[in-house]
Amino acid sequence: MIQQLAAKLRSGGRLDRAEALELYLHAPTPLLGQLADDMRARKHPDRTVTYIIDRNVNYTNVCVARCNFCAFYRPVGSTEGYVLGFEEIFRKIDETIALGGGQLLLQGGHNPDLPLEWYEDLFRAVKQRYPSFRLHALSPPEVLHLSRMSKLTVPQVLDRLIDVGLDSIPGGGAEILVDRVRKLLNCYSKASADEWLGVMAHAHRLGLRTTATMMYGTVETADERIEHLFRLREVQDETGGFTAFITWSYQPEHTELGGDEATGIDYLRTLAIARLVLDSFENVQASWVTQGGKVGQLSLAFGANDMGSVMIEENVVRAAGASYCMDEIEIVRNIEDAGFAAKRRNMHYEILGDPIFRDRAVPRMLELAVARADGDTSRAPEVVNYPARSAAEKKARLTGY
Ligand code: SF4
Repeated sequence: MIQQLAAKLRSGGRLDRAEALELYLHAPTPLLGQLADDMRARKHPDRTVTYIIDRNVNYTNVCVARCNFCAFYRPVGSTEGYVLGFEEIFRKIDETIALGGGQLLLQGGHNPDLPLEWYEDLFRAVKQRYPSFRLHALSPPEVLHLSRMSKLTVPQVLDRLIDVGLDSIPGGGAEILVDRVRKLLNCYSKASADEWLGVMAHAHRLGLRTTATMMYGTVETADERIEHLFRLREVQDETGGFTAFITWSYQPEHTELGGDEATGIDYLRTLAIARLVLDSFENVQASWVTQGGKVGQLSLAFGANDMGSVMIEENVVRAAGASYCMDEIEIVRNIEDAGFAAKRRNMHYEILGDPIFRDRAVPRMLELAVARADGDTSRAPEVVNYPARSAAEKKARLTGY
């Protein structure tokens, strides 16, 4: 059976769900890797591996969703909660540009005290100051949160954000797109599987490109991982709007859910089956930030054709105990040692050029930055201009604390 499925894939055939599960559960790991690598080579025959220089900025950690796998969020009223000020975000953009980057990946908690107008003003201000800088911002659950708070439909929210400069949408918050799993992870109310996919389909119809993700290794079965991939494939077959797929394993430290982290082999097998099922996705990223540089590099033999982002800053995975860091020099070294040519790209996977550090000196980065320095409890000055919804924040905005 496994050899028949391998032959089917080699002749360009498409896996159905039962076949994908059979391969995922029973194919020897080297064969699974070889099949995924063959598909990578068919789609990217020039042996180029890409990466992007951008910065992961989490504008707030205050969140009412309370997913039980998340170590990043703080409840409303927490002394550890923060909202970044516009000037702080501008400083992060300046640092990103200095490192050769041209985009922020901007995501955050579901903060009830930041209305849609706050996002519009932020996006407008960024675009006024940095007209060609890109905003890859707000995962589907954040868009749904804004839609519910503003009582506007998802397409209306997206239209308003596009008007002020939203360029593309990151695929965060997908976890596993199966409602049984989402209920167990306490993330069903932030977005059901249909709602997450619905936001992406709307975004694609409005002309936005987006990414797709999967966080595995919590409570789901292997069959549910496969179901997740097929739900993504259905939308991609309809819209073609996903640029890339990224998967990473659940990071259990400091979370309510707890448990163990998936192994490296589990990661590589999951990556490989994703490449094989998602045959209508051009790009599959390696997740070095959760797996480390060495497994990230091995991913290039298991279907990945992209090393993701130089990232510069990371807060969410670090809160759950992982803290790998690679700057551009290190990412390029990993790509080239694996036998590929390294090229810089943008979110649309257009090639921007060769590694920037070969043209000019860029500062080395041996540790990822954080949203805020420890102990910095300053309040963003703009927030007083917007109506708060929570009692704690209403009081804080009146008294300045
Ligand atoms: S994963 Fe996102 S939505 Fe869920 S609790 Fe964390 S910050 Fe909130």
